[in-house]
This record gives sequence, C-alpha cells and structure tokens, in this order.
Amino acid sequence: MSPLYIPLRVIVHWTLTTTDTLTPGIIHSQHHHAIMETYPAAYSPTSYGRHDGEAVIRTPHATKTLQGGGLEAICTLLATMDGTTPASDLIAQVPDSDPEQIDLLYGADIAYDAQAIPAGLAEAGWERYLEPVLPAMSQPTQQTLPDRLAARSVAVFGEYDPVSGVCDRLRAAGVSVSERSATDPQSHLDDPDVIFLSEQIERGDSWRAANEAWATSSATLIKTRLTATGWRLGPVLTADARACLNCVYTRVDANKAGGQLFDETVTGTPPYMQAYTDTVTELLFRALVAQLPRYLDDQFVVYDHYQGRRETPRVFASPHCKVCDNASSRQERFP
Ligand SMILES: [Zn+2]
Repeated sequence: MSPLYIPLRVIVHWTLTTTDTLTPGIIHSQHHHAIMETYPAAYSPTSYGRHDGEAVIRTPHATKTLQGGGLEAICTLLATMDGTTPASDLIAQVPDSDPEQIDLLYGADIAYDAQAIPAGLAEAGWERYLEPVLPAMSQPTQQTLPDRLAARSVAVFGEYDPVSGVCDRLRAAGVSVSERSATDPQSHLDDPDVIFLSEQIERGDSWRAANEAWATSSATLIKTRLTATGWRLGPVLTADARACLNCVYTRVDANKAGGQLFDETVTGTPPYMQAYTDTVTELLFRALVAQLPRYLDDQFVVYDHYQGRRETPRVFASPHCKVCDNASSRQERFP
C-alpha cells in the first residue's frame, strides 16, 4: 500500500429490488447476456459485514451500505468472484443470484470486470496497479482498457534503474516503453503519451531534453526522483499546463530557495523501494488513462520515509520563460 494513499469514504444507501419484482424483457435479456460473459472481480481488499438486514461493503475507494433483498446472494457472489470465473458460472453456483445483482455491483463500483486487466499484468499478479482507475469507468469501458493501454507509449528520460520496476509493470500491461538519451536526435520526431523523467540528482543531464520534448508534443510530463530518504514526485505537467520545468527552476533560482544541486547517492535497495515503485506505477497508469490524481495538481510531493513526512511545495509559472514562449503555439496545436 502506498504511503500516499488516502482512502475516500463514500456512503451510499442503495436499495436493492428483490428478484421476484424484476420484469424480464428483451432489453433486459440482451443486457443480461452481456453481463453473463464478464469476469467479475472484487477490489483488493474488499470486506463486508452484515447486520439488521444491511450489508456494509468496504473497498479501497468506497464504503457502501446495501439494503433490500438478495443480500445473502450478493455477499456470497462478492466472496466467490475471483476474476477468472465467468459471471454465468457464478450465477449457476450461487443460490438466488442473478445477472442483475452483478450488474448492480459493477454500477456501484463494488466489483469490476477482470477483462479490464491486460493478460500480462494479470499473469504477474499486478492487477492492483490498475484497480484504482477502474471505478471511474463503466463495465463496457473497462473491457476496452487492454486495447487502450496497448496503444499508449512512454518515453523514459534520465536514470532508468530506479524506475525499472515501474517500466516492467507498464510493459506487462502492453504499454510501449522506450529509453531516450539527452542527446538523442530522434527524441523530437515522435509523440509519446507520457514523458517520464527519472532523476538521481536534481537537474541532472536529461531535464532540458525532457522539458523540450514535452514542450513540442501533446504528452504529459511526469518527473520523479528517488532520494536518500524517500522520493520527490512531480511536477506533473499535462499538455495544457501553464508552467514547465524551466519555469520551476527559474523561480527556485530567483527565490534562492533550494536551488542547489543535491549530491546524494542512493546505494543498494532502500526500504521504501517497493512503495516508490507502487506509487510511481499507479501514477503512470493514471496518466495513461487521463485520470491524474488531484494531489499533484500544481504541486509536487516530497516524501521522507524515515520522518514519515510528506510536503507538497507549489509549482508556479515563470513570466518570460524561454521554453514556454517558444511553445506558445503548442496549445493551439494540441487544444
Ligand atoms: Zn516555462
């Protein structure tokens, strides 16, 4: 679990109809037929408790209270759905269950269709990196996720080693990942979806190339740095961001606040390496499906593992930035 993870509690009172009040019809049966061919999966972790005719279900992103008929069947479905058993088999196995209940679980963001997870990611047991983006998608949209990810590309600038675990996970999901050198003339010729800058020292060799590649593309730039005590994540610059890395550093220098080069070396595998990989991987997947988290809006995160401290300095544009001025036509080309 990422230390940056903050659970969002949403209480929804949802009254289920009992199965015998459902009206079968042609639209229903077609829809039910589609539901039967899905592979329901519960979010990890999901827990539930029942009392007084209610079931309270907790997923990592929501807490929902269910009332009404069919609770027994719904709770059994939740405990049984594993993402590899088709809905038709689940319904055959669980007494009093029906496709409507699975459809309701999808609609209430309590379950997802495991067809959303690319095969390579599922085989590696890395479903949890994509689960956070699924509640915002309908079940039919979830099914399109593997194809969408296979059409996405990430260009890595800077230090590859600290983010090799992130890149492994992206590749397992079918995303194209390529390394770029600061002097690679090909850098400007194509248009990746995400420009991923990994630094080991602040303002290393590659930030200018990454910044300029971003300024001449429609990509989202994500900068990250593994530090001796944790990490610095951000800024995240979307195609329509009003500031660039040159702006950020120009402001830092003008304020004489923290403008020095940090000369720290991270040796071996720090104890927060897994948490770093998890946090950055989730952010990359969110960027690739246009679901960036709000905690990186106009700010970046400085996380200190040993102090358990998390700071969020703001990101400001700099007036008369050369890179932004040259890129002023960018927003017209990529509205
Ligand atoms: Zn700028």
